[in-house]
Amino acid sequence: HSEEDSSDGYLFKIVLLGDSGVGKSNLLARFARDEFYSNSKSTIGVEFQTQKMEVKGNKVKAQIWDTAGQERFRAVTSAYYRGAVGALVVYDVSRRQSFDSVGRWLNELHTHCDMNVITILVGNKTDLKDAREVSTTDGKFLAESRSLFFMETSALDSSNVNAAFQTIVKEIYNVLS
Ligand code: GDP
Ligand code: MG
Repeated sequence: HSEEDSSDGYLFKIVLLGDSGVGKSNLLARFARDEFYSNSKSTIGVEFQTQKMEVKGNKVKAQIWDTAGQERFRAVTSAYYRGAVGALVVYDVSRRQSFDSVGRWLNELHTHCDMNVITILVGNKTDLKDAREVSTTDGKFLAESRSLFFMETSALDSSNVNAAFQTIVKEIYNVLS
């Protein structure tokens, strides 16, 4: 469900999902603060970040939740999912196993949220060109077969990071407004 924020406009809860190490925390750090961490410190302590955005001239707040590392123990709690209207399911294009986990993350998501939670599949770390294990075609194909939006990003060199968050917020807005 969406909430009409008391001050101005909509508040959309969006959750980050995907295997440990795929770059979820860094995607959020890049988007919300234009920062990047070469180690995994960014995961610790951050529950969510609220980012003001604009869609079609309207003010929107994206409240983006990060897992705080619980995914390592397959213990993402139902509180994490509660009320989410959007999800970024992230894999690492240089780690096939993280792509193979996408189905499991989608199942998790649909166990806890409405079937029609707006979801974008994100292939991160495109800067690691020589280490690629998942092609763009494979990513697109999976996204199409599961009716997800799709984008490839790099939190390191910033490519498509804003675009990925903009896409999901715009699509949520289109559905809920
Ligand atoms: P999380 O466990 O999914 O939150 O992943 P993190 O954001 O903690 O990132 C895990 C590791 O991958 C860290 O060492 C990051 O510096 C690195 N990383 C994250 N995004 C990228 C990226 O786009 N490119 C590269 N080369 N490394 C990345
Ligand atoms: Mg993290």
